[in-house]
Amino acid sequence: MVRRGWRALLDLLYPPQCCTCGAFVGSWWCERCRAQVAWLAPNEVEHVLALPSGAALPIYSAVRYRAPLAEAIHAFKYKATPQLAELFAALMARAWHISHAETLPFVLVPVPLHPRRQRERGYNQSELLAKALSASLGFAVARQALRRTRHTAQQAQLADDAQRQANVQGAFAANPRAVYAKPILLVDDVYTTGATLSACAEALLAAGASQVAALTLARARN
Ligand SMILES: [Zn+2]
Repeated sequence: MVRRGWRALLDLLYPPQCCTCGAFVGSWWCERCRAQVAWLAPNEVEHVLALPSGAALPIYSAVRYRAPLAEAIHAFKYKATPQLAELFAALMARAWHISHAETLPFVLVPVPLHPRRQRERGYNQSELLAKALSASLGFAVARQALRRTRHTAQQAQLADDAQRQANVQGAFAANPRAVYAKPILLVDDVYTTGATLSACAEALLAAGASQVAALTLARARN
């Protein structure tokens, strides 16, 4: 209630402006821009990645990583627009429902940021997505299930898949108390090479997760 009051007050002081076209239409991402997202077809939503250990990681994504969504994600990550999480989570929930008529009660695990980067940004965008998804999918969120064990270079700044893989390999550890014998659904904003998701999935499986899948808002690769 208090939070809603604050939000209403902030909306009065700083009226919501569409993060991609700049229109003041009472939304952080206007309906016109949202209508331009490039949905993945139902048979394209799932992409299966082979993990180095030999296990398979199914990765579900809602839309292609293209304008104007790419700008919206950039705004979400770097310009403190966490309100976009609910709009994005609605797209992700749709992709999940397309692939799953009924499912196990997965536990949502956001891909963690390094604590230093989270302090700079003020929030972890994957955690905001996981929280918003929790409301629509009815799955619990385990915030502390994964942690970064070392600082890594930003994946976007690395040249190729091999460098990205080496950058994040062994960079995550999972808490067995949070994941042992549970089906885990990893949550992240963009699936690019899958190197980060793979490293997270390996850590979760090593800690005893019964199975691991991933759900991302966008997919950058074909
Ligand atoms: Zn717009």
